[in-house]
This record gives sequence, C-alpha cells and structure tokens, in this order.
Amino acid sequence: MRINISQKKVRDQFVAKVEELSGQKILACYQCGKCSAGCPAVSEMDILPNQVIRYIQLGLKDELLKSNSYWVCASCLTCNARCPKGIKIAEVMEGVRQILLRKRKDRIHIPKLTDKQKEEVPQIALISSFRKYTS
Ligand code: SF4
Ligand code: SF4
Repeated sequence: MRINISQKKVRDQFVAKVEELSGQKILACYQCGKCSAGCPAVSEMDILPNQVIRYIQLGLKDELLKSNSYWVCASCLTCNARCPKGIKIAEVMEGVRQILLRKRKDRIHIPKLTDKQKEEVPQIALISSFRKYTS
C-alpha cells in the first residue's frame, strides 16, 4: 500500500482527537513493538498495535480507519502493561473506535448474530463486541 505523509496530515485534528479521547500522548511512542509482541489478537489484525500508533502519529486517518485492528482489539490490556512509555494502547484503540461509533458506524451487528454464532464466538469477543455497539 502506498502511503503519503505530509505536514498537513501530521497536524490534522485527528491526532488531537484521538489524544483527547484516549487521554494518551501518542507522540511518546518510540515504536519498540512490545505492545504488538504481547497482543493475543494480532493474528486477526491487518496492522499491528504499534502500527496503529504510528499511523496516528503520522496523521494517516483514512488509512487507519480502513484497518480492522481497532475493532479486533479485545481490550485485554496486555499492551498497556507492556509499554515502557506508559502508553495505554487499549485506550487509544477505544478512542479510534469512539470516533466511528459517535458517527453510528458499527462494525458488528449483534442482533444479526445467529444462536449458533453466539455459542461459537469466544465470550470475551462477545462481551467486547457489546462495548463496540451503538444501536
Ligand atoms: S488491548 Fe487490544 S491491542 Fe492491546 S494487547 Fe489486548 S487485544 Fe491487543
Ligand atoms: S509498547 Fe509503547 S512505546 Fe512500544 S511500540 Fe507499543 S505503544 Fe509504542
């Protein structure tokens, strides 16, 4: 994927909005990757948690919002415990989700899940999904 970086993007309100919603200093991340190394959900993510942070740092809003990673995040908080900079990545993921949820853009439509799907989905994923549902 080709990515264009510009001063305009880096200074975009998106970066400030994610910082405001998450309460985290995104620019403090120095890309050590420890968050991604401990994340149990990376196999289902199209970009890694540290890359989510990097995309935000660079103001790559459109590219990030196309990703599935912040939806897949199960809010297990492992990354928060591992970050040497004290960044709460789970809160950053939640901040990105909130930007879309406030526009009523859901990823999962819980009422449409069949009983079989509800039985098969891991409970942590189901509970986590309720937190990402607006309707
Ligand atoms: S909170 Fe989300 S990003 Fe962090 S380790 Fe858990 S699943 Fe991965
Ligand atoms: S562990 Fe912290 S400093 Fe390291 S890449 Fe993840 S968010 Fe950045």
